[in-house]
Amino acid sequence: MSESFVIIGDGVAGSSAAETLREEAPDADITVITDEGEALYNRILIKEFAKGKLPAAPISIHEPEWYEERDIDLVLNTLVVDIDTEANRVTSHGGEEFEYDKLLLATGGTPSQLPVDNSDAEGIHHFWTFQDARAIKADVEEADTGIVVGAGLLGIDFAAICGAQDVEANYLMRGNAWWRYALSEDGAEIIHDALRERGVTPVFESGVDHFTVDDDGRVETAVDPNGNEYEADFVGVAIGLNMNTEIIQDTPIEFDNGIIVDEYMRSNLDDVFAAGDTTEFNDLILGERAQNGAWGSAKAQGDIAAKNMVNYGSEEFRWVSSYSITHFDFPFLSFGHPTLGDDEVEQKYSDTEWRRLALKDGRIVGGVLIGDLAPQSAYKQLMRKGTRVGNEKETLMQKSFSVEDLDAPVADN
Ligand SMILES: Cc1cc2nc3c(=O)[nH]c(=O)nc-3n(C[C@H](O)[C@H](O)[C@H](O)COP(=O)(O)OP(=O)(O)OC[C@H]3O[C@@H](n4cnc5c(N)ncnc54)[C@H](O)[C@@H]3O)c2cc1C
Repeated sequence: MSESFVIIGDGVAGSSAAETLREEAPDADITVITDEGEALYNRILIKEFAKGKLPAAPISIHEPEWYEERDIDLVLNTLVVDIDTEANRVTSHGGEEFEYDKLLLATGGTPSQLPVDNSDAEGIHHFWTFQDARAIKADVEEADTGIVVGAGLLGIDFAAICGAQDVEANYLMRGNAWWRYALSEDGAEIIHDALRERGVTPVFESGVDHFTVDDDGRVETAVDPNGNEYEADFVGVAIGLNMNTEIIQDTPIEFDNGIIVDEYMRSNLDDVFAAGDTTEFNDLILGERAQNGAWGSAKAQGDIAAKNMVNYGSEEFRWVSSYSITHFDFPFLSFGHPTLGDDEVEQKYSDTEWRRLALKDGRIVGGVLIGDLAPQSAYKQLMRKGTRVGNEKETLMQKSFSVEDLDAPVADN
């Protein structure tokens, strides 16, 4: 009998796993189950759709025919509600059962809601799916005033959407700078200026204490912890993701903030794997368990999970993640784990050019580049190799840095 693989989630991790599985196991039964109503689309581009800059069509990646051509069963609009790891069976909300020899959890995460009054009011949006993007676009096009909450990579998307849709918005941040765990005030100031140019005002040492609503339950204002009130026809909240681990709560599959897997994407059960945002994986470069929330990383994890589902131990995940922001006139790139580490070095070169590296035990573990992305490949190379560069910070910050500038030998260690 042919082996059967079941994949939960048709995001980029699940979909790329299905593609690789078909290549590696031509005779296997492959089923991909998703609670969404559409096959894989480009989650990165849905913000451009919400900005009104891109029609819906190019956002789709796979039509259902793509799965048919590969003899992959795609099951849409189907939420998996139970996993029986003894019987090797998953069950959907409608009671349909799917048996597996190997299971892949590629379930991603769900945006967290603010734990404040009226946070589920009409007009308050979270952003993860194409459906969310459609609702955001419809609402933001009618809005004059907006509020953005969440000073991170998804919050900035909401801010850019407000800017592109001519919504005058306040961006309420808890600290004194945007993404303060990865950027210093110097670096963040470049982002703040770009936001202001687009009609989005950063408000520091703020946040949301509660929302007020009108008689129809639609949001009217946000009141911050200082008692200041901000009007909003439209609110975007992006304060982080909760990984979709509910379905494994009653199973022996280990999880913490995500599903715990090794460098082969295998969980503590031999026949259960996980890939994409939802994993907490053994990061071989960082030397500890880590999470990535990026498209390229999720795609690579799906691919590697599939190879190891067919032949365990065949390929390990060793990856430097990248995430770029393309909303502004200058380029922005975050790579690796810029919020981690025990040391750092940074440099400002101009009003639109700045750089920071995060180091751990003298090795680069992540960074943020604004304005000039040219040195990224040199930094990533050093990161992959694990070269100790902690005592050559000045050289690292040279404007046109290359690895040849270093005294340290660039070798695996
Ligand atoms: C607006 C936006 C902008 C982004 N911009 C960037 C960017 O510029 N660069 C970048 O690198 N990354 C970006 N990302 C992040 C990137 O999209 C994600 O890291 C990536 O899509 C994660 O893929 P995944 O397959 O792991 O999870 P997901 O894409 O979240 O897919 C998981 C799927 O599983 C489904 N699912 C979950 N539980 C179940 C269940 N029980 N039963 C059935 N189905 C289930 C979910 O509905 C979902 O369809 C962005 C994300 C968003 C939302």
